[in-house]
Amino acid sequence: MKKLDEKLQELTQNLWWTWRPEVRAIFRDIDPSLYHRVHRNPLRVLREVDPAFLEQRAAEVDITTRTDRALRQMKEYLNPLTTWGLVHAGPLLSRPVAYFCAEFGIHESLPIYSGGLGILAGDHLKGASNLGVPLVGVGLLYRQGYTTQELDSHFWQHDVNEPYEIENLPLKEAIGMDGRPARVSVELPGRTVWARVWETSVGRIRLILLDTRDDANSEEDKGLAARLYGGDQRMRIQQELLLGVGGSRALRALGITASVYHLNEGHSAFAILERARHRVQHDGLDPWQALKESAQATVFTTHTPVDAGHDRFPAGLAEEHLAPLAQGLGLPLSDIMSFGRVHPEDTHSPFLPTVLALKQSRAANGVSALHGNVSRQMWNVLWPDRKEQDVPIGHITNGVHTHTWLATELNQLFQAHLGANWMDGIVRPDLWTRIESMDSAEIWEIKQVLKTRLMRLVRNRDENFRQRNGMPPRDLPLLEPEALTIGFARRFVPYKRPDLLFRNLDRIAALINNPERPVNLVFAGRAHPADEPGKGLIQRVGQLTQDPRFRQRVAFVENYNIHIGRNLYQGVDAWLNNPRRPLEACGTSGMKVVANGGLHISILDGWWAEAYDGENGFAIGNGEIHANQDIQDERDFEALLTLLEKVIVPMYYDRDAQGVPRQWMHRVKRSIRTLAWRFNADRMVMDYVRNCYLPAATASSCQMP
Ligand SMILES: *Cc1c(COP(=O)(O)O)cnc(C)c1O
Repeated sequence: MKKLDEKLQELTQNLWWTWRPEVRAIFRDIDPSLYHRVHRNPLRVLREVDPAFLEQRAAEVDITTRTDRALRQMKEYLNPLTTWGLVHAGPLLSRPVAYFCAEFGIHESLPIYSGGLGILAGDHLKGASNLGVPLVGVGLLYRQGYTTQELDSHFWQHDVNEPYEIENLPLKEAIGMDGRPARVSVELPGRTVWARVWETSVGRIRLILLDTRDDANSEEDKGLAARLYGGDQRMRIQQELLLGVGGSRALRALGITASVYHLNEGHSAFAILERARHRVQHDGLDPWQALKESAQATVFTTHTPVDAGHDRFPAGLAEEHLAPLAQGLGLPLSDIMSFGRVHPEDTHSPFLPTVLALKQSRAANGVSALHGNVSRQMWNVLWPDRKEQDVPIGHITNGVHTHTWLATELNQLFQAHLGANWMDGIVRPDLWTRIESMDSAEIWEIKQVLKTRLMRLVRNRDENFRQRNGMPPRDLPLLEPEALTIGFARRFVPYKRPDLLFRNLDRIAALINNPERPVNLVFAGRAHPADEPGKGLIQRVGQLTQDPRFRQRVAFVENYNIHIGRNLYQGVDAWLNNPRRPLEACGTSGMKVVANGGLHISILDGWWAEAYDGENGFAIGNGEIHANQDIQDERDFEALLTLLEKVIVPMYYDRDAQGVPRQWMHRVKRSIRTLAWRFNADRMVMDYVRNCYLPAATASSCQMP
């Protein structure tokens, strides 16, 4: 019989636990304060808990039976009798899809993500795992560690870094074909850089991560992959070569022959060239034939219409770094450079990895229907003889991994009404029609529990913040427990307009302080460490939380990450999303609120433009765009405030005899019924399999929508 600590150890080794709240709870219950101190990292709890104490707790909170049960469930999950993938993704079984991304957001204890792109990649792996789609993730292991956002008393953001010990993460060295830990090398100007290869398991999916802390590297190169999106353009292009070229070599070293490369953003675009180079140097293919083949087996997803979101490397810098690939391919460097140029004839123009990926892949897509349109318009310049609608960029709308984001209490309710295995049928609309027969009062009651939990977290974090900054304790409590609570959390950048609500302070103050119908606003979000305007936006919202008019009703929660996000999505009544249309490619935070019984209040941008049906949430404005930014902001502000004053707040406070807001709950149910089956990771991955992966794997034409 295995000992308890060995069984617990086994549970930590597969990131399956990240979407199993009951498994996370085992580690929490071992030692709650330790658990929170170590970023809710189960492996670290085990490494740091006193064995005698573990034994004592095992008896007190029944750790042993819970662990046995979790282990059995994990094994069942990892050895399924059949899966959707077995039936529908046959051609990928022997040759999986390689999913490249610069970041993966799987759990807050694995600090290799920054924001939306990473979380989406994490949800993609989890969705592929559930479906049994053969796929392997490829990324970088950033060694900088946890970046905690701390605000000072002036609400200026400081980024505090805390490195991790590799032993504290569920990683193991990936073993190469030669039976030894795999290492790969990449030629960079004047030297060769080596990377070690780690791997971890996300359910049934392997994720491999490259790490430049290799003894063969100079001190500087050891730090090459220290920071996600860190450093200057030189460091960026070197990181991208590491990801694309190194990632591709790592797959080969591990004996993984990928059928399809799915490249996310331009960051990994160099993989296209490396794959072709290998065919030329290893198999003697003609370079143009090799490039064609490589393109035929590559799918590219662009995730942002914001211009600054696409790297532009100066010509000289790109030439210096691409010379080895050109040489390996046996092509003039000028040909390689032309792949990344908007106007190839302009030999001084910069190199865009996004352009390389668009030109040299079989299929490209945006991440919502609207973003597909915007991308075709944006990149029409690459196909000047085509009409906009004929630009070969389609769309697959993002989805979220519901199990990761859903409150346990609601999962239990769904299990009771939709069946124990409802998650296996999550993409079936008919499953969700059963929501209508559920008792609104029951959902409402659960929402109150979740909201109370959120309040506790917000107040706790607020106390920490005040103590750290030597501020006196509050005289009046923060937030009104029963009030309509609206959440806003995302990266703070101007186009997302986190301060839109505050364009007219008196008007918003009057709205939220109405004693009959109070409103809480809970903000969270970070700015990129180098983004001064973003930090300025945090400061503005932060300072408003101290204004006597807002002090009790507006909160800013520090350190937005997966943990804070999960609590927000579960606890809020409504989620606010007010970007400047059409700059939000998709947006996924609002989707996480849906199954948690919250309503989306949003500009008709990204996914909301195709999701809103008039009654399943709220639309701010009607999707109009004005060339003048200030006019657009003013109109959107007016539309938002009017919507809150006239519709949202009155609806929330319109109660029946039992105190349930019937009309509000009617919308909540409609939101769940019409949205939960569509905007989830299973549906997203199925779309990729059918429309992109299978056609690419079988090299027939891609039928992208
Ligand atoms: C979902 C999520 C995001 C992305 O949400 P957007 O709506 O695209 O901004 C960013 N950060 C965290 C922690 C998330 O959970």
